[in-house]
Amino acid sequence: MKWVIGNWKSNGAWSQNEALLVALKALVCENTRVGVCVPFPYLAQAQRMLQESKVLWGAQNVSPFGPGAYTGEVHAEMLCDFGCRLTIVGHSERRQYFGETNAQIAEKIQRLNAVAITPIWCVGETLEERERGAWQDVLRQQIVEVVEIVGAAAVENVLIAYEPVWAIGTGRNATPEDVAAAHGWLRTVLSEVGARSDLPILYGGSVKGGNAAELFTVEGCDGGLIGGASLSAMEFAAIVAAA
Ligand code: PGA
Repeated sequence: MKWVIGNWKSNGAWSQNEALLVALKALVCENTRVGVCVPFPYLAQAQRMLQESKVLWGAQNVSPFGPGAYTGEVHAEMLCDFGCRLTIVGHSERRQYFGETNAQIAEKIQRLNAVAITPIWCVGETLEERERGAWQDVLRQQIVEVVEIVGAAAVENVLIAYEPVWAIGTGRNATPEDVAAAHGWLRTVLSEVGARSDLPILYGGSVKGGNAAELFTVEGCDGGLIGGASLSAMEFAAIVAAA
C-alpha cells in the first residue's frame, strides 16, 4: 500500500482551503493512504471538512515539550483535539531555518507516540553533502542520533520521508536510481540500529503528476510527501492516481 501525503508548508488561506479540501475529500483512495499536513490554524478546518472521509490530516510540527510555559508552541495533546493522525517532524526547512536538531526530533517523536499520532520523520542530505559524497553518512547520522535517544521500539510506527534537500521545491526530483539507493541505504541503517527495516519510506522532492508513477514504483518506495503539488487539487489528484 502506498502513502500520498500533502505538505502545504506555510501556505493556505481559509477561503482557498475550502475548495482544496472539498477536492481532497472526493479523492478515491482505495489502495492508497492519503493525508494532508496543514498549518496549525487550519487544523480545525481540515478536521471539519475531512472527518467523514478516508483522508487523514495533521500538522507540520509539534512542540518537543508538553503543556506549560513555552510561548508559541503547540503540544501533541492539542493536536489530538483536532483529530490529527499524522504530523511531520524534522523537515529540512525546520532543520535549516529553525535549527531543529536530531535530539529535538527524537523528543517530538516520543511526544507524538504518546498520543498515537504517526510521526512523518523527514531525513535527507543537502546538495553540498551529496556532491562531496557524504549522503550516506548524513542519512545514517540522522537515523542513528534519533534512535540512540528514543530506542528502536519508538520508531516502529513512524513513516520515514526521504527528502533530498536539493530536490525540494527545485523542480529537480531525484532519479528512480537515487531513490532506490537512498531508500535501500536507509533500510540498511535501520536494521543496523535494530529498528524495523520494512518501515514505510516515502520520497519527497518535486513530485508531480508526471513523475509520481516512476518514483512510486521504485522498489522500497512506499509513496510520497508532496509539497508544492499538494496545493493544486488537479496535480495532487494525479499523484494519488499514480500511486
Ligand atoms: P516539494 O516539497 O514537493 O515542493 O518539492 C516536498 C516537501 O518539502 O515535503
